[in-house]
Amino acid sequence: MMLILMTQNLISEPAREIPVVGEFDLCVLGGSCTGVFAAIRAARLGLSVAIVEKMGCFGGVATLSLVNVWHTPLDEVFEKRIFAGLTQEVIDRLKRRNSVKEDLANASVAWGFNSAEMQIELDELITENNITPWLHTSFVAPIVQDGQLTAIAIENKNGREAIKARFFIDATGDGDLCQRLGLDTYLAARRQPSTTCATFSEWDSLGNANWGALIREHADEYDLPDGFAWGGNIPGSDVFMLAGTRVFENCSTAEGFTKAEIEGRRQVRAIQDILRKYAPESKLALQALPARIGIRETRHVRCLHQLTGDEVLHGKRFDDAIANGSYRVDIHHDDKPGITFRYLDGREVYTRPGLPHENGRWREATAQSPTFYQIPYRSLVPQGPFGNVLAAGRFIDADTVAHGAIRVMVNMNQTGEAAGVAAYLALKNECPAREVSPAKLRTTLADGGSIIL
Ligand SMILES: Cc1cc2nc3c(=O)[nH]c(=O)nc-3n(C[C@H](O)[C@H](O)[C@H](O)COP(=O)(O)OP(=O)(O)OC[C@H]3O[C@@H](n4cnc5c(N)ncnc54)[C@H](O)[C@@H]3O)c2cc1C
Repeated sequence: MMLILMTQNLISEPAREIPVVGEFDLCVLGGSCTGVFAAIRAARLGLSVAIVEKMGCFGGVATLSLVNVWHTPLDEVFEKRIFAGLTQEVIDRLKRRNSVKEDLANASVAWGFNSAEMQIELDELITENNITPWLHTSFVAPIVQDGQLTAIAIENKNGREAIKARFFIDATGDGDLCQRLGLDTYLAARRQPSTTCATFSEWDSLGNANWGALIREHADEYDLPDGFAWGGNIPGSDVFMLAGTRVFENCSTAEGFTKAEIEGRRQVRAIQDILRKYAPESKLALQALPARIGIRETRHVRCLHQLTGDEVLHGKRFDDAIANGSYRVDIHHDDKPGITFRYLDGREVYTRPGLPHENGRWREATAQSPTFYQIPYRSLVPQGPFGNVLAAGRFIDADTVAHGAIRVMVNMNQTGEAAGVAAYLALKNECPAREVSPAKLRTTLADGGSIIL
């Protein structure tokens, strides 16, 4: 039996020895496409790689939370290709399974995919690339020896164990490793809301009913926050995926995350009840809920550079650029319904469910406008003493406006690929992450299939 020392509000756990279950060049924490792509790029360069994911499948929001949309690989005017890499490779694989609907000149949905097929495709990629996976395994604590991160503690069905590695990539979305290392993390004053998606059968039975307008008009009756709703059929099926709920809890705390899950599901039911009541001829049925609420934003980690909204909206070029994006800035309002889109050419569009768009400008028109933005490597390198840690995914250092654009998966996928390649270069050159040569990083990324501009 374990001996426990207690005071009124604190329990002291006795020190204990935990088994080391593996030793690797690189350990990636978090198994969304961001983490998986980091692991694959590093493995293809010859590193031994482990990946730790707390849920039962890879893919993060793209699979666990049913968000099945990736944005265009073309620039804002749909002329120039701005990224490829593993995003394109996965799309090509999914196409072979008839699991993708493609419309590259569409700013909202370039690729709609089947999230279940994506899960299996990611399993295959992990296996093909000889990456050692741990599913249903949570990272719980960093193990620091002589000021260096040397291992992580994990928990799973076996209990508590440790994985040793020479380098670590935090791709947990919430920056769990960075936060537990005591690095400087911050919460934006206005965070993007989380959303519980849901799938429905018989959606077509709504016929011509304007479901967006119905949800908006009857929101008060069902205590739904003013919102934004979108959805579409899952490619290769007749099931409809709806993203229509909005939850403003802080999902990087246990209490907030718990409340958010319950509130998100309540809102799904409220939407279903509105549609049943006000489109009574419909026969739609709730088909599936996500394994986890979809989270757009929690904490960020302070890095060598904070990417700003100005830099994104003015398409600033960086010498250490590792990702290119053209997804517009989207501002999810918490003080009124709907969202506002800002484009690099100065257009601004305010949109609400079931109502016509309102067009305006956030800046005057100019003869020439940038058509894509970039993410610099420095926004992935956390400040602080740990030279063998990189951040990848939605918690990289970006202000509220920049995050509103860069957060989408096609961009986050590129941060994962860059982190994997940077880990390889840091280990090869025996240097800390902050000293990885940007030029070498960019050429190595390009050699592995990335588009570097
Ligand atoms: C409703 C909704 C709609 C969206 N729409 C789009 C869209 O249309 N297109 C688009 O590209 N993006 C969209 N996004 C945004 C995008 O999904 C996220 O910003 C993006 O997925 C973030 O990726 P990530 O890899 O950083 O985090 P996540 O996808 O959240 O992945 C983090 C992973 O880490 C794991 N993890 C967390 N903590 C631990 C731990 N302690 N130990 C082990 N594993 C851990 C998680 O289980 C998860 O698998 C949307 C998001 C939402 C919620």
